[in-house]
Order: sequence, then C-alpha cells, then structure tokens
Amino acid sequence: MSVRVRLAPSPTGNLHIGTARTGVFNWLFARHQGGQFVLRIEDTDQERSRSEYTENILEGLRWLGLTWDEGPFFQSQRGDLYQQAIQTLLDREWAYYCYCSEAELEQLRTSQKAQGQAPRYDNRHRHLTPAQQQAYRAEGREPVVRFKIDDARVITWLDGVRGEVTWKGQDLGGDMVIARASDRGVGQPLYNLAVVVDDIAMGITHVIRGEDHIANTAKQILLYEALGATVPEFIHTPLILNAAGQKLSKRDGVTSIWDFRDLGYTAAALVNYMTLLGWSPPDGQEIFTLDQAAANFSFSRVNRAGAKFDWDKLDWLNSQYLHQLPIPELTAALVPFWQGAGYPLGPETDQTWLEALTALIGPSLVRLKDAVGLAKTFFETGVTLDEAAQQQLRQPGTRAVLQAVLQDLDSLDINNIPGFIQAITETQHVKKGLVMRGLRAALLGAMHGPDLAQAWLLLHAKGEDRSRLTQALAVSA
Ligand code: GLU
Repeated sequence: MSVRVRLAPSPTGNLHIGTARTGVFNWLFARHQGGQFVLRIEDTDQERSRSEYTENILEGLRWLGLTWDEGPFFQSQRGDLYQQAIQTLLDREWAYYCYCSEAELEQLRTSQKAQGQAPRYDNRHRHLTPAQQQAYRAEGREPVVRFKIDDARVITWLDGVRGEVTWKGQDLGGDMVIARASDRGVGQPLYNLAVVVDDIAMGITHVIRGEDHIANTAKQILLYEALGATVPEFIHTPLILNAAGQKLSKRDGVTSIWDFRDLGYTAAALVNYMTLLGWSPPDGQEIFTLDQAAANFSFSRVNRAGAKFDWDKLDWLNSQYLHQLPIPELTAALVPFWQGAGYPLGPETDQTWLEALTALIGPSLVRLKDAVGLAKTFFETGVTLDEAAQQQLRQPGTRAVLQAVLQDLDSLDINNIPGFIQAITETQHVKKGLVMRGLRAALLGAMHGPDLAQAWLLLHAKGEDRSRLTQALAVSA
C-alpha cells in the first residue's frame, strides 16, 4: 500500500514553527517512501479561520520547499461528508443528542472540582427517552451530538516514535462532543470528527503530528472503529521547547516562520535546522538539503524527548549557508534588508558596487539582518566617528598624514591602495600602522571593521573618501 500522509494546519494564525516542523517530517517521510503528501486546511472554526492565514501558510510552506502533492483541500467545503458520518454514528447508536445547557455543565464541573475530581461529562443524556428529548426540544434547547466513550475501554497503539501508547477510556473526559448545535439538525462538526472523516476519505496511512495531539489520537481511534474504518499508523513527534524546557511560544519572541525570515535566516538553513529538531541523520552530517535528508529519513531516529530550540546551532547553520552562497544570490537576499533599513537603494544602484559590498561583509554574516549594521557606513553620507576613532585622529602626526592623502587623492590608483599607503608612509616618514589606523578612523569612523583597502574602494566609488577625509581633518591633531 502506498504511503499517504497529510499536514492539516488550522488557518487561525501565520505559519507556526511547530506546524512547519510537522510539515517537514511529513514531507521527509512521504518522499522517503515514495508516497503522497496531502495538504488540508482545517477551517471548520469559522470565527477564528481567515483566508489571509491560509495564504500565509501556503506561502510559508512553499518558501521552505515543502511542496505538496494534493490539495489544498478545505474542510469548510466538505460539510456533507461530516454530516453523513455524524448521521451514521447516530444511526448506529454510537452517538446521541445531548441537551445539557452550558449552566448545567458548569454546575457539574464545579461539583466535580469540589470533590477533587477531574472535570468530565457524566454521560447523563446517553439514554434519554424520545419523550425526554421531545420535552427538551420543546423548551427550545439546541442539542450537541456526543460520541459514546466506553470508560472501560483501554486504547492502545504502536506509535512510530513513542512505541506502545495506552490510554484508558475513563481518562477521555466522558462522551465527547462531535458536533455543535445547529438549526440544520446534525450541526457543525468538531475537530476530532472532521479529522477522522477526512483522514479516512483521503486514504491517509500515517498520521504524523505533534505530541500535543496524543489524547486526541485515543479518541480518534474510537471513531475509526465506530465508522468501521482501518486505523492508520500514528506517529507523534516531540514538541519544540525553549531554553527553560517549555513549549516554544509567543513569549519566546518567535512563533511564525516569518519571524525567522525577518531575523535573517534563509529558508534552506531553517528547514535544515527544523529537521534536526528531533531527528539525527545516520551519517552524522548536519548540513543537508531536504532531498538528502529524505534519502536517509526514518522515524527510528526521531527522539521521544522534546527538542530544545538552540539559537546558537541555528545561527551556526545559517552562517554556513550564507558563506557558501554565490555573491549575486547573497546580494539579492540582502537587498530587502537594506531597503527595510531605509538605505538609498534604487534601480539605478550599481550592481557591481553592491556585490563588492556583499563580498566585503559576507564572511562576517551570521544572519542576513547583520548586513544592516555592517553595511550602514557604506550607504551613509559622511561618517560618524566613534570614541576610539576620534582618539586615533588626535594622535600626533595623523593630521599631516590625512592632509597628504587628500593632496594626493587625485593620483590614487584604486587598484593599488597598498602602494599608495606605502608612498604616504615614505613621504611622511611615519610608521605604516599610523597611516592605516588614521585612514580607518577617518574613512570608517571605527577602529575595527572590514578590510581597509576594499572598504576604501567602495567609498571612493561614491566620492565619499574625499569628504570623510576632510571631515576627519577637523578633529585630527
Ligand atoms: N488542525 C490541527 C492542528 O493544526 C491538525 C492536527 C492533526 O494533524 O490532526 O493542530
């Protein structure tokens, strides 16, 4: 039987890192098995679902390279299927109408709490007579549909990551609501029902999802059985944790894939890192493409324990990717960051100059966003002198050096900056270090930074060297 897996995001927010990582595992498994990867948008919650989130999720998956083979399918367009399944369950007496009001349920929870019990529905409407049902309807009560959960049942499955997992029916909270009240009769289906109906209809063989769905799996297995369908394999992947060992959340400052893009991580590095969040390749090689990972992928190498999010590791991976990018590609990736910082970049901006700038700062990049700070001085008019640069300019002899540089600037052969510096050293009878440091302070306003000759070349192309040297003279001694 050919493998069919699915990713089933709810469009209630932008593409989340946890969903994307579940997508990675589904994709890798499907590709490794030569199977199909289905995308299903779970938009049954009409109040919270939005089409812009759907767009965001699709765009994010494409950006990461997580291509799907079928879909996207939308649960909101599959209502008839769910209605049929609910009706089947009602007909087979696996499900029934429950007329409890919210106030009654609240009262039940309060009394359970007072007795130190976990809140659960006590199945009180499981055996209503037709007359009782009639009476509730006459009161105007809108029923929900509940699915019977046998307290005595023990549900066991062999999880692809966690091994044998067992749940007791009595721990599932009593008969579960599978459809809300609706004037159409059977009502709006809820998550567990819709997922099972879809997974059956779509022929899903392996349900791969986050570990936070384990309790749902126990309930869903009961639904498969009641609907007379084959139960698929279940594989629960470990959660992504923050440094404190809690589930990574909004409080950690990043949730959506776009947060990572905006910080300057490339899609290739991020998807590589997400794969390592839980999985380790058999060959120990940590830098790989999705295709390479797919060739080696199996759930036997996925950890059960939560995967700690390690920023240093992600940074390291990202820098590896950035450092091997061809300069034109890296330049194209940096341009949006420079534009975002408001640097003067237009269609007329000289591409050769931009690429030279990229080549200069590229080796120092860890995240693309680092290029904002590193390139700032090259986009600016005039220089901001930091404390150390000002001190350097006040060193005795520096002024004479800068004056000589300015005087000879017209004769500068930009391809032979070392020769020019050497000549100044000789005519001024000073140490080369003084010339170098004076120039660095004047041109870049800081004593640490990129290669001086390359930086000068970039500034010279914009005529910035002359004005900065003149500006520095005012401070120098
Ligand atoms: N819509 C669910 C979620 O986003 C899908 C869970 C599942 O894969 O069944 O968490």
